[in-house]
Amino acid sequence: MQKILVSSCLLGEKVRYDGRSCAQDGLLRLWQEEGRIVPFCPESEGGLSTPRPPAEIEPGHSAEDVLRGAARVMREDGGDVTAAFVQGAERALACCWKHRIKIAILKEGSPSCGVACVHDGTFSGRKKPGQGVTTRLLARHGISVFHEGQLELAACRLAELERDCG
Ligand code: SF4
Repeated sequence: MQKILVSSCLLGEKVRYDGRSCAQDGLLRLWQEEGRIVPFCPESEGGLSTPRPPAEIEPGHSAEDVLRGAARVMREDGGDVTAAFVQGAERALACCWKHRIKIAILKEGSPSCGVACVHDGTFSGRKKPGQGVTTRLLARHGISVFHEGQLELAACRLAELERDCG
């Protein structure tokens, strides 16, 4: 059975920086009942505590820049949390390899999990197109990453993979 890596906060776990979750319903619940879902929070796995100050990728840079050591992930108070974000991404990838996961559903907008957009690094609430650090690393290794608004697309990809496996 194909398993799916899912941001823990989408499953009701209170691991967001502000100590809340953002639980989803529907397909996620079905996949949970089927035993497909592997919950994962890159920031917790990277060693960050909850609650924690918000962090953003430095302005003008991308998650790819962070992964190649050319940019940092910073807290608003100036704390550098790059190492924790990179470690969380690497652990997410290791988890995918362990469970042969080819699909991930991650929380949109997060500096770790963002799929189509992330905050712009100015802590002003503005977003820009781009990926989070974990999303980028998983995508780089061929894992199909969707956000919580793309569950139907994820379901199509899942059907494709299961058809290919017979
Ligand atoms: S968005 Fe990602 S890193 Fe942030 S709390 Fe959810 S799972 Fe953890």
